[in-house]
This record gives sequence, C-alpha cells and structure tokens, in this order.
Amino acid sequence: LSFLGIESSCDDTAAAVVRGDGTILSSVVAGQTELHAAFGGVVPEIAARAHTEKLDHCVEEALHLSGLRLADLDGVAVTAGPGLIGGVMAGVMLAKGIAAGTGLPLVGVNHLAGHALTPRLTDRVEFPYLMLLVSGGHCQFLRVDAADAFHRLGGTIDDAPGEAFDKVAKLLGLPQPGGPAVEAEAASGDPARFALPRPLLDRPGCDMSFSGLKTAVLRARDDLAAARGGLSRQDRADLCAGFQAAIADVLAEKTRRALAQTRTPLLAVAGGVAANARIRADLEQVAQDGGAGFLAPPLRLCTDNAAMIAWAGIEAFRLGQRDGMALAGRPRWPLDQAAAPMLGAGK
Ligand code: ATP
Ligand code: FE
Repeated sequence: LSFLGIESSCDDTAAAVVRGDGTILSSVVAGQTELHAAFGGVVPEIAARAHTEKLDHCVEEALHLSGLRLADLDGVAVTAGPGLIGGVMAGVMLAKGIAAGTGLPLVGVNHLAGHALTPRLTDRVEFPYLMLLVSGGHCQFLRVDAADAFHRLGGTIDDAPGEAFDKVAKLLGLPQPGGPAVEAEAASGDPARFALPRPLLDRPGCDMSFSGLKTAVLRARDDLAAARGGLSRQDRADLCAGFQAAIADVLAEKTRRALAQTRTPLLAVAGGVAANARIRADLEQVAQDGGAGFLAPPLRLCTDNAAMIAWAGIEAFRLGQRDGMALAGRPRWPLDQAAAPMLGAGK
C-alpha cells in the first residue's frame, strides 16, 4: 500500500509518498516564510497564490524522489481542513484532479489528525495515547483512541505557545521564528529574576492561556526601558529565560493533569514548540513521574509536512474512508468531530 499526501493548509506547501508499513519514500516541504516576512504574519491571499504555484512542482518532486509513478499508488490523501481556506482549496482541487485522472481513491484528512497520528508513523505506537500538540497555531491535549476517535481534554483559550514565543521575540527585537531565538537567549538568562505569571494554574482542568504572559513580558520590558532607557543583553536574556520557564511550567503542570485523567501508557508531543529543550525535558519528566513512556517524533515530522497527511490518509483508508468529488475544504474542523461525515461529502 502506498499513498500520496498533499498539505497546503497554512504556509507550507508539501507533498509526500508514504507506504503502509510507515516507510517515508519522499517528503517535500516548500516554505513561504520569506513571502510573508514583511507583513509580520501569514497573509491568506499570498499563501493561497503561492500554494497554487508550488503544489504541482511539490507533487512531481515527491513522486520523482519516491521512485513511484501515480499508477503505482493506492490512494491520494489531502488536508481538507482546518486552515486557511484558499490554501486548503488549492490542495483539495489538485488532489481531486489527480484522483479523477487516475481513478485513485481520494481521502480528505484533518490536519490535526495528521499531527496526532504521527507517533504511529514513526514508531509502533498502540492506541490509546495522550498527545500534546503544541505549535505556532495550536495547543491542545488529545486522547487518541483510534485513527478516527479523538477526545480533546483541553487547550489554550487564547494564543498558542509558539505564537507567544514569536511575539515575545518581536517585543525584544529578536529574529523570527521566535522560538529558537528566545531559547538561545534564555540559555544565558536567570529564569527567576522576573516574576512572570503562570496563567490558569490555579484553575482545575487542562485549559491554558498564554496571552497574559506575553503582556507581562511587554510590561517588564517597558518598565526597564523607562527606568534605564533601554534593555541590556542580560535584561533580555533574563526576560527570555523567565518567559520560557513560565511556558514550560504551565505545559508541564497541565500535562501532569491530562496524564492523570487519561492514564495512557504513552505521552507523545508534536508541533514546533516541542523542539524546545527545556520544555521537552520537563514533559519527559512528567511522563516518567506518571509511569508513561515519552515520544517526540523528529522535528521535520512534528512541524507541518505531507508525510503525516499521507499516513493519516492510509489510516483512514484502512478504516474504510473514501471521499468523492464532493469533498469540501473546511476552514474550521474540530478534531473531536474528525470522524463525522464531511458536509457535502459524496461516496
Ligand atoms: P500549525 O502547524 O499549528 O499550523 P505552525 O506551522 O506555526 O502552526 P510549527 O511549524 O509546528 O507550527 O511550529 C512553529 C512554531 O514553533 C513557531 O511559533 C516557533 O517559534 C515555535 N518553535 C520552534 N522552535 C522552537 C523552540 N526551540 N522553542 C520554542 N518554540 C519553538
Ligand atoms: Fe500544523
């Protein structure tokens, strides 16, 4: 069994060919960071146009690198949401075109299911397991019960941690993406110098909030600037260290609760923020304390890619999912309802 996967829901255009045994034959990712850099965020219209321009090439490249032809494949999986609808549509249209032209089955995949099922692509992981998805756009706990059954335990009620890292980097004049820049600064900082909040820790449950933390950093920066006319290198490092420690503490405590609730034998993490060494080490400790294993797939499979989409397509295909030409892109698509029939989906 082998599937072509297509991903275009945010600012990465990606295509991949994956086999049913988890072998990744190819995985091509074309980013758009430089296109959006001047605007301080992803511009949906620019993203959609760039996807349209790059998708064909990505798919050709992925096929070429895999050594397979379209005729050798068993299906086409495409991200059908959630995400920026222009980009999602571009991918869905291309996938439909390929399916119509070859007669291959078409499977519409939830982008979040792609992230959530990645541990099964990289390792022989059995259900159920607890997944913490922590990226620039998302932050949520999912108990993964089956390839089509996800239970959301909680998540951020405002910013995602990656977004907070990026905003704090901007506040402190550090380059984007902010995560790696803040982590590098934090290495020489004192995390205890600034008393930054640990939002929502006093409340039960697994929901999180990160926007107040970013505001606290802004206030601390402005207080320092007002008192001394600017920030020293050490001030900046201390702020970064304090901010990183606050995020790590919140994630660790909420993960502890989620694990206690689910009692799954494994904690898996995905998303760009899981690349952070301090956060990763804290989460690993939480898993160990809870008697659970810990798994963080390689970063290139934790951030947006099409191998995870091809794999999620294979899993859904094995459960019998087939989408027809009426497959619709969905800007919003909560993962709890991933198994619910898509609006307008035909057989
Ligand atoms: P999504 O995939 O949810 O739509 P995204 O594409 O922004 O969102 P990813 O590509 O998974 O998410 O991750 C990018 C985010 O991860 C950025 O916000 C970046 O700052 C953050 N990040 C990357 N490396 C680190 C790090 N070492 N520490 C903290 N954050 C990091
Ligand atoms: Fe993603």
